[in-house]
Amino acid sequence: MVRSRFRTFPIQQLLQQPQQTQSWELADPVEGFESLTPVQGELSVRHGYSFLEVMLQAETIVNLTCDRCLCCYNHRLQVETRELIWLRDETPELAEWEPEDELEESLPPDGSFDPQQWLYEQLCLALPLRNVCAEDCPGPAQPEPKPEPTLLDERWSALAKLRDRLGE
Ligand SMILES: [Zn+2]
Repeated sequence: MVRSRFRTFPIQQLLQQPQQTQSWELADPVEGFESLTPVQGELSVRHGYSFLEVMLQAETIVNLTCDRCLCCYNHRLQVETRELIWLRDETPELAEWEPEDELEESLPPDGSFDPQQWLYEQLCLALPLRNVCAEDCPGPAQPEPKPEPTLLDERWSALAKLRDRLGE
């Protein structure tokens, strides 16, 4: 695996790499993304002439708050994803794949790619939409038991009885 700094680079630089691919071993926290452990895994970018193929396999542990019982819990976040990023100046007819909904992103072919930013976005996308601490989550805290009737309540009920009697 070619060692290279994990930062923005010119896309065309990939064409000088073996298999037009650049890979990084991930072992550090990702800036702006809160996790309890470093993000570990591998990210690779391949230049496919009319597109970039970005592949990610990553794992970390994040601390989440349960939507139901509001307790904090640790969640193992595992991401395995592949994204094709269109390099815009090419004509779509030359594409080697079916350009369906896979190709939402695009970059200018003479532009640059920021693996750190891309990784950050993938991690955010991988966070669960609903946070539930466990299958047997106790759910929301039970409401407080009703307070014992107070003296005031007794007076009110006596008054109510009196009123009922008077109303008859
Ligand atoms: Zn819970």
